[in-house]
Amino acid sequence: MTTVVDLAAAYHFAAVQHVDQRRKGQRAEPYMNHLTEVAELVAHATEGRELDIAIAAVLHDTVEDTGASLAEISERFGADVAALVAEVTDDKSLPKAERKRLQVEHAPHASRGAKLIKLADKTANLRALVASPPPDWTAERRDEYRDWAREVVAGCRGASPWLEARFDEAAAALS
Ligand code: ZN
Repeated sequence: MTTVVDLAAAYHFAAVQHVDQRRKGQRAEPYMNHLTEVAELVAHATEGRELDIAIAAVLHDTVEDTGASLAEISERFGADVAALVAEVTDDKSLPKAERKRLQVEHAPHASRGAKLIKLADKTANLRALVASPPPDWTAERRDEYRDWAREVVAGCRGASPWLEARFDEAAAALS
């Protein structure tokens, strides 16, 4: 049975894995701040009832951005969590533009849990662009990111009206 022990283990695992990473914003926040925000949004959207989705939210960038493997996630947190993390992990062997295109293409076919994580991730990223804009991003780059995030989220709608409203607020704050 998945319990709060697994959720606590996921936070610790993510903190260790992302220890040297910082966000791109002017404050260079610890990467972990992004993961706690995404997990809180997902936990709220699921009213605390779907622990596997919250755990996958904590771990959503571990395979893409650190040395962690899906096999390791599966062994520690179970196959359901690993499957969710796999769904939200880009193939880094592909060029960035292709990865972004695939996110738009794949979003409508994603599981509900993966849609919630994508919605929360894009919401947190747009909020970060307002709260701590990356110093080297032009307004044009920021607008491009927002428009792309809207396209990904268009494929996730229906998963959580509450979370979709949080995303829309974050996007509106950038318009
Ligand atoms: Zn993320």
